[in-house]
Amino acid sequence: ILFPDDFTEATRATLTGRRHGHIRQVHRAQPGDTLKVGLLGGAIGRAEVLSIDDHAVQLAVELLDPAPPALPLTVILALPRPKMLKRIIQHVTTLGAKRIYLVNAYRVEKSYWQSPWLEAEKLRELCLLGLEQAVDTQMPTIEIRKRFKPFVEDELGEIAANSRRLVAHPVTDTPCPVDIDEPVTLAVGPEGGFIAYEVEKLQEQGFESVHLGPRILRVETALPVLLGRLFPGR
Ligand code: SAM
Repeated sequence: ILFPDDFTEATRATLTGRRHGHIRQVHRAQPGDTLKVGLLGGAIGRAEVLSIDDHAVQLAVELLDPAPPALPLTVILALPRPKMLKRIIQHVTTLGAKRIYLVNAYRVEKSYWQSPWLEAEKLRELCLLGLEQAVDTQMPTIEIRKRFKPFVEDELGEIAANSRRLVAHPVTDTPCPVDIDEPVTLAVGPEGGFIAYEVEKLQEQGFESVHLGPRILRVETALPVLLGRLFPGR
C-alpha cells in the first residue's frame, strides 16, 4: 500500500476509497495483520491493521527502510494501443524505470493519441498501481512527444547523455547485452516495428540495435525481457 505524498511521518493512518478496498478485498486483512507500506517519494516499512470496517481501515505505521533504488533506465516507447499502454506503464513502473517518453512513430496508429490513458492523472494512477505492486515509492517521470523527428534530432542527445543507447529491433545481428553496469536509454518500437528511417535516425544519435532472439515478441513481452537481461536481479 502506498501512502499519498500528503501523508506525514505520523504513526497512525486512516485509509478510505481504493486503498481501503484493496486492503479489505485483496489482502482480506484483519486487525493484527501486518502490511507492507511505503510513502510516495519516501521510505518503505510496515503497518499493523488496528481496525477495519466497511468504510475505513486504521493503521499503525512504521516507515523503516529506503525504497529500492530506481533502475538507471530511460525508456523511449513508441505509443502502444491504449489497452497495452495501461499494462506497459504499470509493468515498467513495477520494474523500476526512472523515465518514460511516449513518442510517435510512423507505425503508431493516429487514433492511439486520443486515448484517455494519456492524461497526466490517469498515467499517475497507473504508475501508483505499478509502484504498489513492487513495494516501491519512486514515481517515474512520463513525457509525451508527438513528433518523432524533432524529438530524436533535438532532444534525444541530451536525454541519453552519458548512457548506453539501445534500440530493440528484431532484424539485427547483435544480441541484447546482459547485466549492464551503466545507465541505459532504451528505445522500443510500435506493434509494426520501427521503419528503417527511424532506426537510422536513432543510430545517428548513437543507438545500437539489438535483438532478443528469433521470436517476435509483443511490446509488453519484449520490455520485461529486455529489462531482465539488462538489469538482472535489480
Ligand atoms: N514486425 C515488427 C518488426 O520486425 O520490427 C515487429 C515489431 S514487435 C511486435 C514490437 C517491438 O517490440 C519492436 O519494434 C521491438 O522494439 C520489440 N521487439 C519485439 N520482439 C523483438 C525481438 N525479438 N528482438 C528485439 N526487439 C523486439
